Amino acid sequence: MSESVSPAVTRFAPSPTGLLHLGHAYAALFAHRAARETGGRFLLRIEDIDTGRCRREFIDAIYEDLAWLGIDWEKPARRQSEHFADYKRALEALEKMRVLYPCFCTRKDIAAEIERSGHAPHGPDGPLYPGICRALPPGERTERVNKGDAYALRLDMEKARALTGPLTWFDRRNGKTIAAAPDIFGDVVLARKETPASYHLACTLDDHLQGITLVTRGEDLFAATHVHRLLQALLGLDTPAYHHHALLTGEAGERLAKRDKALTLRALRAAGETPDAVIELTRL
Ligand code: GLU
Repeated sequence: MSESVSPAVTRFAPSPTGLLHLGHAYAALFAHRAARETGGRFLLRIEDIDTGRCRREFIDAIYEDLAWLGIDWEKPARRQSEHFADYKRALEALEKMRVLYPCFCTRKDIAAEIERSGHAPHGPDGPLYPGICRALPPGERTERVNKGDAYALRLDMEKARALTGPLTWFDRRNGKTIAAAPDIFGDVVLARKETPASYHLACTLDDHLQGITLVTRGEDLFAATHVHRLLQALLGLDTPAYHHHALLTGEAGERLAKRDKALTLRALRAAGETPDAVIELTRL
């Protein structure tokens, strides 16, 4: 550890939609070590915004599995489902900036429009939204909202980019400054009726509210950082450094998923593995 390294505040932010597996253990240990090595702090955040998919039993399992691995975090962990008011305030701030619009499209509407236009640019999450509701006359918008039609709130990417201008963030893994390119996502959804804040919004706001200075997470979320950087600029939030680490893979090089039951920390423990043996299995 060099003298100049300042204490990092890191976090592990699992979604309680299943049991933690070896890949999660790797991510949690990575963040925990990054804090420890710098004399910093390690926090835990339960990303349970999608209340339909998240379950209390998986939250309890996260606490138990992390403790079994020897990972300690500052109590209490932040649970996103207890902070909907924070996300709502952020959405209101964005609404005031006029960078959000209601989108009434169903998946079918979007697919039909893409098919019709014969033009389907892709982003990290699939085809980009073709902008149907961006062009709705304000009167029609208000009428449909008042009528109770279900809608999502989308970010008007072009307007948002015009407000912030060029942005960068620091990629600690490669030691590089990266130019933010949130446009690759198009008009992302920031809230839906059933999930009042998207992952992008809740995660970015919470990293700020929890004072995170170094976000460590899998490289599968590298692209998401472009959007997070844009939201930080719009909402006046701090920008942490980022380290997107490699993902632990199975023997055939496949990604580990929650459905790989044999590789859950639960199953490994039940099979008689010790925490040290599991930590050894997470060495890349
Ligand atoms: N909750 C996200 C997940 O489990 C991780 C979010 C993050 O680390 O930024 O994939």
